[in-house]
Amino acid sequence: MDEFELIRRYFARMGADRADVDLGVGDDAALLRVPEGTDLVAAVDTLVEGRHFPAGADARSIGHRALAVNLSDIAAMGAAPAWATLALTLPEADPGWLDGFARGLGELACAHGVALVGGDTTAGPLTISVQILGHVPRGSALRRGGGRAGDVLAVTGTLGDAGAGLALATGALELKDPAAARDLLERFEYPTPRVEFGIAARGIASAAMDISDGLVGDLPKLAAAGGLGAAVDVERLPMSGALRAAGDAQQARSWALGAGDDYELLVAVPPERFGELAARAEQLNLTLTAIGELNRGNAVKWMLHGAEFTPAVHGFDHFRRASTQITV
Ligand code: ADP
Ligand code: MG
Repeated sequence: MDEFELIRRYFARMGADRADVDLGVGDDAALLRVPEGTDLVAAVDTLVEGRHFPAGADARSIGHRALAVNLSDIAAMGAAPAWATLALTLPEADPGWLDGFARGLGELACAHGVALVGGDTTAGPLTISVQILGHVPRGSALRRGGGRAGDVLAVTGTLGDAGAGLALATGALELKDPAAARDLLERFEYPTPRVEFGIAARGIASAAMDISDGLVGDLPKLAAAGGLGAAVDVERLPMSGALRAAGDAQQARSWALGAGDDYELLVAVPPERFGELAARAEQLNLTLTAIGELNRGNAVKWMLHGAEFTPAVHGFDHFRRASTQITV
């Protein structure tokens, strides 16, 4: 199978069929029709074997995650995803691997109405870059810096599951409860980007970001972007039953605070509109949990049982040594 056969077989018609794609895979570039009155929203994320997923990870999960992490960025902007391009670097053209990868990426693309409109294919160490393009009604994108002092900070879903799932995937954690292990591993391998919630939060939330590097790393970025401080009640962090089954309270809390890969959304919302946003989340079968608030300070205070404490965890940073080794 040569490069062109590979592209034709796996990537020529991937994802949704969209009327706004004038020209997709096959030419030198794609031609896309951006709806009138919208802002184009663009993001790119790269997954590197051994860095973002364990070597030898299931190909379908890699395909899913490569798109999911990008959809999560689009969700955090309150935007609707539309098109994606894929830069794929592969050690070899293994049809079994490519089948799984294309299935994982293609199923998620179809589920969100995204068309794959181009890309690049090269040989080398396994690295996947997906660029996503979407749109949002002009001026209505959710930004990190839009929060005000007094806004409620809230998160979708539950935190920490993917961190425990990664520990299971790498063999760092073993669990007796097979159902809990399956749930946690699934949350790492097949994260659910909160696209519908991001769109529903437009015009209600004052700020938003996705939690990809862990709450302790990410929340200070949202506060700082607004020139604000924050206070968080660590007891309020939403944790799944599976996560609680995976470790003692302290270990579960460490994952919820510090582990990345959950791809839940963190939003700031004026207190009088929290109920409305929580009701929209509920319509999407999603929980929205208030965990603290923004304030006029310039730091984030983490409160546990009424006392301030310093989490002995930090967000993921590629250029910091021993990233993500976590204990509270
Ligand atoms: P060029 O050399 O002009 O950049 P290529 O030969 O690299 O074009 O690619 C041919 C066509 O296939 C282009 O339309 C490109 O966007 C598409 N393509 C290449 N690799 C991929 C991929 N992994 N996924 C989707 N489309 C791809
Ligand atoms: Mg090329």
